[in-house]
Amino acid sequence: MTQQHTATTAVRQGIETDLQHRAVVPPIYLSSNYSFADPQTPGAFDYSRSANPTREQLAIALAEMESGHSGVITASGMAAVHLAVSVLSAEELLLVPHDCYGGSLRLFQHLARKGQFRLQVVDMTDTEALTQALAASPGLIWLETPSNPLLRIVDIAAICQQAKQQGCRVAVDNTFLTPVLQQPLLLGADMVIHSTTKYINGHSDVIGGAVIAKTPELSEELLWNANTLGLSGGALDAYLTLRGLRTLSLRMSQHQHNASLIVAALQAHPAVSHIYYPGLVQHPGHGIAQRQQRGFGGMISFELQGGAASTGRFVAALKLFSLAESLGGVESLVAVPASMTHRAMTPEQRRCAGISDGLIRLSVGIEHSDDLLADIQQALTAVTQGDDAS
Ligand code: PLP
Repeated sequence: MTQQHTATTAVRQGIETDLQHRAVVPPIYLSSNYSFADPQTPGAFDYSRSANPTREQLAIALAEMESGHSGVITASGMAAVHLAVSVLSAEELLLVPHDCYGGSLRLFQHLARKGQFRLQVVDMTDTEALTQALAASPGLIWLETPSNPLLRIVDIAAICQQAKQQGCRVAVDNTFLTPVLQQPLLLGADMVIHSTTKYINGHSDVIGGAVIAKTPELSEELLWNANTLGLSGGALDAYLTLRGLRTLSLRMSQHQHNASLIVAALQAHPAVSHIYYPGLVQHPGHGIAQRQQRGFGGMISFELQGGAASTGRFVAALKLFSLAESLGGVESLVAVPASMTHRAMTPEQRRCAGISDGLIRLSVGIEHSDDLLADIQQALTAVTQGDDAS
């Protein structure tokens, strides 16, 4: 049989596996512990920090969707990031992009200061800088593509090929696209990381994460580390996340559809000075995105003429985009990364990463496109009217 589509795996995982009552949907196991047949004979599960049947269902689904060996479900995306870098030892070098999620960068810097590994920050879209950094034989390269919030794209397959020549492992944060739109393990990566808080759960009601490994050896190391460090996620969160995952494919289609229409509206408006969206031919990563992704996703960043002052007016005028951090839920959100999602970075780090104070990031939801477009138009009108009045 040919490999199942990710949409089918998401819907079918665990269905009709309950032998006790023949429940169609797999039941939730909240129990923290499981009885032993005798002191020497545990069952398949003994203690839920190590393994839990509900968490396992979600892990199997995500591992299959990412074409990995197996997955570890964690209590948050940050726990997943922490788990992924826990494979490094003190003398090893971690190479990270200068514009990765601010919380990830904060953790990397904190752990490096504590001596858990050595750290080098590099602009991964700069091929020469990357080649130079790779010459130092890092233990792990961290990729985030598209990056948060500027949606920069790097070539996963090309970087993995270079990394392999240096014996270096590659981890990809796939939060923005999910396995529906991008499968880094098939492009040569060793680990995929998700904040499942975002698109995978998709309903903005769970904090969670996952690390999916390509090989049995790496899977075993990650499971051991997750259990030892206590990073595993809760059963109720896993249950809700698996329920969200069932509709991921449909949701991603609608997120993308709405995002492409909003991008067209932004392009046509004179108040908009710059749009960051990999679906645009003028985006520097457009060609790579076309090759390695199955769509351009539902995230858009842009800047307005007049900078931060215009941003304030635009954000205040929006009615259907909630001013909130996070992304990937069914509801549309707007964020100003400099003062919200990326405030953990210093102003110098933000400047280096190209994140201006007025940058606006939209997480386009799955509401009807007519309503979202009308809201964007009226908020842009509010910006231009404000300009006229000043
Ligand atoms: N990775 C990316 C790309 C993110 O955007 C985030 C959070 O915004 C995280 C990781 C961390 O995830 P969490 O907030 O679930 O801990």
